Amino acid sequence: MEKTLVVIKPDGVQRTLIGEIIRRYENSGLKLIAIKMLVPTPAMVEKHYLVNPEWIKNVGEKSIASYKNKGEQPPFKTSAECGQAVLARLKKYMSAGPVVAMIWEGSKAVGIVRKITGGTEPLSSDVGTIRGDYTIDSYDLSDSADRAIRNLVHASGSVEEAEKEITLWFKKDELIEYNLVLEKILYDVNLDEILE
Ligand code: ATP
Ligand code: MG
Repeated sequence: MEKTLVVIKPDGVQRTLIGEIIRRYENSGLKLIAIKMLVPTPAMVEKHYLVNPEWIKNVGEKSIASYKNKGEQPPFKTSAECGQAVLARLKKYMSAGPVVAMIWEGSKAVGIVRKITGGTEPLSSDVGTIRGDYTIDSYDLSDSADRAIRNLVHASGSVEEAEKEITLWFKKDELIEYNLVLEKILYDVNLDEILE
């Protein structure tokens, strides 16, 4: 069983999509084991993204690629500098209002949640995903306004990231271990308790 962190970002809350977003994860069969609403501080946002030491470089590389894709010159030469610029934008975005933080648990929860969430840029996220269905932002638009991509939710990128992020966002006693009736169907090997 894996646990993964999902944060409904300030734009998701403002768009009144909390219920719709939770429904998507809930309908998949994953189990909600913690939830709360809060306004993150910029320092908290920085800690959150820096739990993965590779993140600055990776996000910088993605950013440079998106500028090149548009046929434009990236504003910074190195991926590290580009990554820092994205982090500055994210601190502003993520601390702009209340967010809803949740932990979802289940078999392969990290990958399942990423699939339901969709790719980073809503313009190119698949139809049927949260980011693909409920918003229209693009690198083009966010870059021209020097702001972060508004893509409604954060979802942990790997099991390792999820573990670190969960410790950052939740205290141990905020996680509730309980059984859901539907787990019988999802995980029971024999299905021998349905018929009388
Ligand atoms: P998240 O970590 O939020 O679940 P992700 O893993 O799809 O999203 P990351 O590469 O980790 O994407 O980037 C984190 C967040 O930073 C994105 O969700 C987006 O809001 C913002 N972001 C990433 N790259 C850029 C960029 N080039 N320009 C503006 N914002 C960006
Ligand atoms: Mg990420």
